[in-house]
Amino acid sequence: MPETLHCLIVGGGPAGLTAAIYLARFHLKVAVADDGNSRARQIPCTHNHAGFPEGIAGTELLERMRRQALKFGARFVDTHVDGLAIIPGGFEAGGCNGFGPARTVLLATGVTNRRPAIPEPLHADALRTGRLRYCPVCDGYEVTDLNVAVIGCGARAVTECIFLRSYTARLTLILDEGTELTEDDAARIHANGICIVRGRPTDFILDETGIHFAVSQGRMTFDTVYPALGSEIHSGLAASLGAALTDEGCIKVDAHQRTNVRGLYAAGDVVVGLDQISHAMGEAGVAATTIRNDLTAYEPILR
Ligand SMILES: Cc1cc2nc3c(=O)[nH]c(=O)nc-3n(C[C@H](O)[C@H](O)[C@H](O)COP(=O)(O)OP(=O)(O)OC[C@H]3O[C@@H](n4cnc5c(N)ncnc54)[C@H](O)[C@@H]3O)c2cc1C
Repeated sequence: MPETLHCLIVGGGPAGLTAAIYLARFHLKVAVADDGNSRARQIPCTHNHAGFPEGIAGTELLERMRRQALKFGARFVDTHVDGLAIIPGGFEAGGCNGFGPARTVLLATGVTNRRPAIPEPLHADALRTGRLRYCPVCDGYEVTDLNVAVIGCGARAVTECIFLRSYTARLTLILDEGTELTEDDAARIHANGICIVRGRPTDFILDETGIHFAVSQGRMTFDTVYPALGSEIHSGLAASLGAALTDEGCIKVDAHQRTNVRGLYAAGDVVVGLDQISHAMGEAGVAATTIRNDLTAYEPILR
């Protein structure tokens, strides 16, 4: 019989890996199940993550964290968890062969950005070269005074434009056809000197002069494009167990990262909050410590 885990972590991004390091160092039996699509993998080089003055690639950061978790005894299985069931004393996960049941589960499953119609490998090339960016909080600094387009619809795209306005005056909002701005949003866009173009961009091309695409009124070129199309939130496992979600679909947690389902915790982008590495790590530290303390409240863990 495989032994019972103190915690199964679903998701091996910055949140899941931070929790794995903490839990392993609490001398707890912990395993991470991950299907390998961390948003951090897409970061060519982060410049806002503290402690790395020259920046660090997302893949390198993840590799370092995974090594650190392994060093203290965390186990890993590269798999997609396709179901979670509540059983007496804990949880059972589908797709995690080799691991026993878990007393607790931490969901650190993240989100996926909705993409404009850019096929691979062009999408990856555009990310790598900074022609395509998804996170103004992360890398708005890098587009200071550049010619930037925000692709989106409605309030989300307006908010992103206004945020980027403090980095550059050369801003265009590419507003999805059929979308009408509220009077207030239209006034904010106008007051900030942001151009509006209507249409859904297609036929993307990259070259050394910029990123080019077609809209109904012709071809356009920018230094960088920010899609503001929202995200798919990976909260299906939580929902299947009856965990409460926000209207957007993020997992609701208390101040200690507990969901409303006993033994089920969540951290990182999948929880509502600032979608940043530092925030994911902070929430994971809180979650791991709560898990440890909640486990010992039921029965002492003695060495
Ligand atoms: C292009 C880009 C640039 C960014 N730049 C920065 C930056 O410079 N600074 C910064 O702070 N943040 C940046 N971010 C945001 C940052 O990447 C995220 O905030 C961070 O990765 C969130 O960590 P997480 O662990 O919550 O989720 P993720 O890193 O997305 O990890 C979630 C993991 O869970 C796995 N998973 C999901 N469901 C399952 C399942 N059912 N079974 C198994 N595994 C599952 C996924 O495959 C993934 O590996 C950027 C994001 C993007 C896309």
